[in-house]
Amino acid sequence: MLNPLKNVLQEHGLKATTQRLTLLEYMMTHDNHPTAEMIHNELPDISLATVYNTLEKFVEKKLVVIIDGISDGKRHYDAADHPHYHVINTKTNEIIDAANFDPAPLIKAAQAATGLKITEYRIDLYGVEPSTTEVHS
Ligand SMILES: [Zn+2]
Repeated sequence: MLNPLKNVLQEHGLKATTQRLTLLEYMMTHDNHPTAEMIHNELPDISLATVYNTLEKFVEKKLVVIIDGISDGKRHYDAADHPHYHVINTKTNEIIDAANFDPAPLIKAAQAATGLKITEYRIDLYGVEPSTTEVHS
């Protein structure tokens, strides 16, 4: 039987266990930037420690990225299957996906500045809703 997720795990040097398949499928089908706790609450059959350890393994293999620096102090995760950047509302801790960004100029500038060949990037922006009661002097 063809199981593309099984292939993804094997291509990344990971044995395709049932729990890894379940967690990879969850990450590929949810764009809610969950914490390990959030996933464990939805998939209670998988222990919190296993969720956490499996996500960290996925991060190591670049299947999943970490979004941190959120003021809830928690580590959030996101599938690394499509390039996009994040805008984080620092008042509500909402993590918003945005993709209307061409990284080419930044990559070119970074390469020119350092001589390194840029192989990946991660961009998180932080903001608040503009105040409607702003006072102009
Ligand atoms: Zn995202």
